[in-house]
Amino acid sequence: MKAPMDEVSLVHANALHILDAALRRRFLVRDLLWCATCDVPWVPILLRPMTRYYACHNKSCPHPAMPAGLVEHRVWIRFVRLHGVDNCQIPRDRRHEALTDALNRVLVCPGLLLRLEWWE
Ligand SMILES: [Zn+2]
Repeated sequence: MKAPMDEVSLVHANALHILDAALRRRFLVRDLLWCATCDVPWVPILLRPMTRYYACHNKSCPHPAMPAGLVEHRVWIRFVRLHGVDNCQIPRDRRHEALTDALNRVLVCPGLLLRLEWWE
């Protein structure tokens, strides 16, 4: 069975692999990143097999794709600091849920700065 198109983040010609649901779940900040420049989402992609990146949905976005691990670390570390949780308190498979509960979205700004918008 083919993955539904909305699971597919094949936005860049060099993104070789269609992300299935299991692979998508490995992207901690999926559905949270938003391009401040283009006003569209950033999406998970694989630039090479198992080389995870996030990239703007707009192919002509001026910002380069970012390594997923780096983005996730930057978001997660700020969440941990703000909420005063021990890193180990939230298991890996619960972290996406914890982030979406706390964050409205994460704006990707010029200079690839991440601006975290917390729920009020
Ligand atoms: Zn963009």
